[in-house]
Amino acid sequence: MTIADRVNILNKNIGDVTILAASKSQSNESIEEAYAAGITNFGENYLQEALNKIAHLKHLPICWHFIGAIQSKKAKSVAQNFSWVHSLDREKIALKLNDARDDINNPINICIQINFDEESAKSGVNPKEAEPLASYILQLQNLKLRGLMMIPKAIDNEDYQYESFLRLTKLRDSLNQRLNITMDTLSMGMSHDYLAAIRAGSTIIRIGTGIFGQRVR
Ligand SMILES: *Cc1c(COP(=O)(O)O)cnc(C)c1O
Repeated sequence: MTIADRVNILNKNIGDVTILAASKSQSNESIEEAYAAGITNFGENYLQEALNKIAHLKHLPICWHFIGAIQSKKAKSVAQNFSWVHSLDREKIALKLNDARDDINNPINICIQINFDEESAKSGVNPKEAEPLASYILQLQNLKLRGLMMIPKAIDNEDYQYESFLRLTKLRDSLNQRLNITMDTLSMGMSHDYLAAIRAGSTIIRIGTGIFGQRVR
């Protein structure tokens, strides 16, 4: 199956949900192929790899999203090269992103990454820490708080996946109410669980293997 075939199948299944192609480890050629098939949002996890691709593909009007863990010393470059960050989980990084964004009229779109499962290996804040972090972000002019992101445990059961994603939808709704804001984004769902995520209210699914095939590394 080609990349275009996979994109067409996805599009039939997902209504108006946005597809973010998770393009870590993919070549510039594969990204161009996905772009030709109609994908305009791409997500990268590793800064240096991403910067090479962004430079090489600058002739295409791609919207670049950062979806990996952000090291403090790399925050400045993330702020200067990406339209979205999905993986914010610390005030310190929020402040660095804000200070490094040079275009006041074009804030970085931000999702706070939530870690419900308290898996220490994963990034993300505990759901209880989401409200203070959201309040902090709201004070920063060059960040636009758009929503929440999660990476749940990989469990092969659609009902379990659905319940798992529903926690993020409920948290978003309750934060909107408590802080009197209108976060419109839920970044949730990957190749193996995007249907459950959409059922639970996802607005952006992050798809890697479902578009590009198995990663080679
Ligand atoms: C790799 C990655 C994805 C996509 O995973 P697939 O299982 O290949 O669809 C989504 N989100 C993040 C944060 C990733 O690192």
